[in-house]
Amino acid sequence: MSAAIIDGEAFAARLRARIAVEVARLKADHGVTPGLAVVLVGDDPASATYVRMKRKACEEAGLASRVLELPVETRQEELLARVATLNADPEVHGILVQLPLPPQIDERAVVRAVDPDKDVDGFHPLNVGRVALGELEDAFVPATPAGILRLLDETGVELRGADAVVIGRSAIVGRPTALLLLHRSATVTVCHSRTRDLASHTRRADVLVAAVGMPGFVTADMVKPGATVIDVGINRVQGADGKGRLVGDVDFDEVSRVAGSLTPVPGGVGPMTIAMLLENTLAAARRAAGTPGANKPLGESQTEAKR
Ligand code: NAP
Repeated sequence: MSAAIIDGEAFAARLRARIAVEVARLKADHGVTPGLAVVLVGDDPASATYVRMKRKACEEAGLASRVLELPVETRQEELLARVATLNADPEVHGILVQLPLPPQIDERAVVRAVDPDKDVDGFHPLNVGRVALGELEDAFVPATPAGILRLLDETGVELRGADAVVIGRSAIVGRPTALLLLHRSATVTVCHSRTRDLASHTRRADVLVAAVGMPGFVTADMVKPGATVIDVGINRVQGADGKGRLVGDVDFDEVSRVAGSLTPVPGGVGPMTIAMLLENTLAAARRAAGTPGANKPLGESQTEAKR
């Protein structure tokens, strides 16, 4: 068997194009340009790359973006004051503080300082609670889990009653993804580093999500034939030519012979994450403009229809 490749890049491009149309409409009808402010503290190269990608995607879709670059020695009070200024700025609809932050700063305090109505990362406890409760219409759902669900919808896989296994329980990927799958009536198992006999769980999965952070962690013997496999991992490894390249948590070559469909890395979940961030910022701006259905996804998701 050879798995169908779930083309996250192509789907995200279509989504970004639709977001651009909605952004233009919001500007024309309400004079509002959705604005995203990204705060980058320090000079971590990976963070700087992510921030650049987010800014470029914003600009291409017609959103206003601004990046606030602060030195690595920034004190917590200074950062909190900057966040408060952005909270009060009516031109800023979404605020994203790029993580990780330097050690002198308490990440939790910063996450809690962001206005929940501008928390397009969905990390504020209020939005986390809304996701846990299944109040998704009022929540900002974190971008990566939201993107995973959209990709699953794209494959057409039936989630209701499906056995779904998520490897990883982080607050930003594994746990919210498990909750979203549960809200869609999948039977969800969450595995982590203390799980005994991991393969006995993963082999039952109709839908397998890997969010571990270890290259090639999921091998063919861990996958049920025909399963839908979502690879969230982004791992930089050294190729045979000595150059660095990105790979996922799934051994792509092996697993593509067993799975029914599979996301590639790069080109799977990654581009969807950025598209969902734009969608969250658009939703925040619509909310601020008081337009109806502000938090409704843009067309392609069949969340409601499939419940
Ligand atoms: P994380 O916070 O490090 O969480 C990793 C999870 O994997 C933890 O829950 C850990 O379990 C579990 N784990 C570690 N070793 C394991 C093992 N041997 N067996 C089973 N589970 C194990 O990482 P994260 O932030 O969730 O990110 C996961 C991956 O996704 C990373 O590669 C990251 O770069 C990538 N990522 C991609 C995107 C995207 O847009 N594509 C976005 C975010 C993250 P414990 O909880 O027990 O420690």
